[in-house]
Amino acid sequence: MNRPPSEPRSRLGADRPLDVLVTGGAGFIGSCFTRLLLGPDSPLPVASVTVLDALTYAGNRENLAPVADDPRLVFVHGDIRDARLVGELMPGRDAVVHFAAESHVDRSIAGAAEFLSTNVLGTGTLLDGALRHSVGTFLHVSTDEVYGSVPRGSTDEEHPLRPTSPYASSKASSDLVALSYQRTHGLDVRVTRCSNNYGPYQFPEKVIPLFMTRLLDGLDVPLYGDGLHVRDWLHVEDHCRALCAVLADGAPGEVYNIGSGTELTNLELTTRLLDACGADRNRIRQVADRKAHDLRYSVDDSKIRARLGWKPQRSAEEGLAATVAWYRENRAWWEPLKLRAQLPSR
Ligand code: NAD
Repeated sequence: MNRPPSEPRSRLGADRPLDVLVTGGAGFIGSCFTRLLLGPDSPLPVASVTVLDALTYAGNRENLAPVADDPRLVFVHGDIRDARLVGELMPGRDAVVHFAAESHVDRSIAGAAEFLSTNVLGTGTLLDGALRHSVGTFLHVSTDEVYGSVPRGSTDEEHPLRPTSPYASSKASSDLVALSYQRTHGLDVRVTRCSNNYGPYQFPEKVIPLFMTRLLDGLDVPLYGDGLHVRDWLHVEDHCRALCAVLADGAPGEVYNIGSGTELTNLELTTRLLDACGADRNRIRQVADRKAHDLRYSVDDSKIRARLGWKPQRSAEEGLAATVAWYRENRAWWEPLKLRAQLPSR
């Protein structure tokens, strides 16, 4: 039985190790979360982690190599839109942590169909399965982009959703569908909205790995427009620790913003990457701006900090330096991906 929303809960994982289903666990953030859960300093006790991933262009089993031999890891190659498979994987799960998505804004502008199908309908398929099989907690991993551009101030969790891109609107839609399962059915759904992540194993179409790998190859870096778009940058491990805090101590039906407080213009970020690689400013090539490019995102994350005691552990300086070093040392990871990928041109 699903617990009614008002029933007090004990801390998730306090009484016994958890069986967790991670969707999109071969992607950038899902694989970090899986490595964290199965690593030596996991914030939660874990009996098993089942990864469900369709291995789209963005999914890569190599991202799970550090934990591939852990007997608690089960990898299932499949699609979150496959209701039969989802129904087989749900029974007995203490938690579903839902990362699987089409995640690249530029691709959503080029064509939105897969975004609507995976991000909205796929999320619905998972929620139906979780409800039918009485899953304990459904953690829906969303993004600050659902609030749209924020020229001034910061958006708290009550701020209206005004997504701009098809990607962001598909995520906003899935947030609402997820929360509706809590309100209608009493399913324990929790939603997180995090700012831009960076770190190892990020597919080299996103700005930091794209620029880093181009700099390491002696190429220029294509900067959108005037480079004055502002993003808050959080290390992916800090995001994953925040998700563990929400799983352990969050409340059903609640939304939690997650951010770092480190806001950088794209030009400032690019300059930091150039400096880290000893490259000078003439490596920047200005390219036509992204269509309807949101000027700024900025989340007010005081709720998760005050209620769950979470805060980032890594400074931007330390995290970016470690990330730069990782791409420098892991050419064998990213080079084949770049050769295989059909990256949208800038
Ligand atoms: P990613 O593109 O690196 O990974 C997505 C993963 O989902 C891939 O492994 C892919 O194979 C899998 N997938 C895609 N469609 C699937 C389907 N139909 N069935 C099963 N698996 C499928 O994305 P990411 O950057 O790791 O983002 C993960 C989640 O976090 C997304 O929901 C995204 O909206 C959210 N998010 C990302 C960021 C960020 O900065 N990257 C910030 C906040 C929130």
